[in-house]
Amino acid sequence: MKKIALFPGSFDPLTNGHLDTITRGAALFDEVVVGVFVNTSKKSFFTPKEKVQLIEASVSDLKNVRVILQEHDLTVDVANALGAKFLLRGIRSVKDYEYEKDIAQMNQHLSPDLETVFLLASPEYSHISSSILKEVIQFGGDVEKYLPPVINQAIVEKRDQNE
Ligand code: ADP
Repeated sequence: MKKIALFPGSFDPLTNGHLDTITRGAALFDEVVVGVFVNTSKKSFFTPKEKVQLIEASVSDLKNVRVILQEHDLTVDVANALGAKFLLRGIRSVKDYEYEKDIAQMNQHLSPDLETVFLLASPEYSHISSSILKEVIQFGGDVEKYLPPVINQAIVEKRDQNE
C-alpha cells in the first residue's frame, strides 16, 4: 500500500526550512501532500490560494509532492480522506517540541492509527520561521537565502505594492 504523509501547516510563507522537510519527507514516503491550512488566529500575508500556487511552484521538481488547501477541516479528517497514515512535522527547538507533542498527542486521541513523524530541522534552517522572515523583509532586510526564489520575489512585490 502507498505510504502517504500529510504535511500540514500555515506556510505563510513556505521557507527553505519547510522545503527541506518536504524534500526529506519525499524520500521517505511514496507521496507527500502539503496541506495549506487556513489558520484563523494568525493574520496571513498571502491568501490561501496564493500560498498554494507559490508552494506548487517551489516543489515542482519533486514528483511525489502535491499541494492541497485544507480549509475548515480537522487535520486528522483530511489525512483519513487522503488515505494518509502519517502526519509529517518539523522540529526546530525544544519550544517546537513542546507545541508539537501536544498536537501529536491530541491527533493520536482523535485518530489512533495516524502516526506523526517528526524530522529535526537541518541546522542551517533551525533558526528561521515564516514570521521572522516576514518581519525582516518588511523592513527591507535581505533573507533571500532562506526562501525559495519564487516566494522571495512574491514577497518583495507585495511589500512594494503596499508601500
Ligand atoms: P503551523 O502554524 O502549523 O506551526 P508552520 O507553517 O509554521 O505551521 O509550520 C509547519 C511545520 O513546519 C511545523 O511542524 C513547523 O515546526 C515546521 N517548520 C517551520 N519552520 C521550519 C524550519 N525552519 N525547518 C524545519 N521545519 C520547520
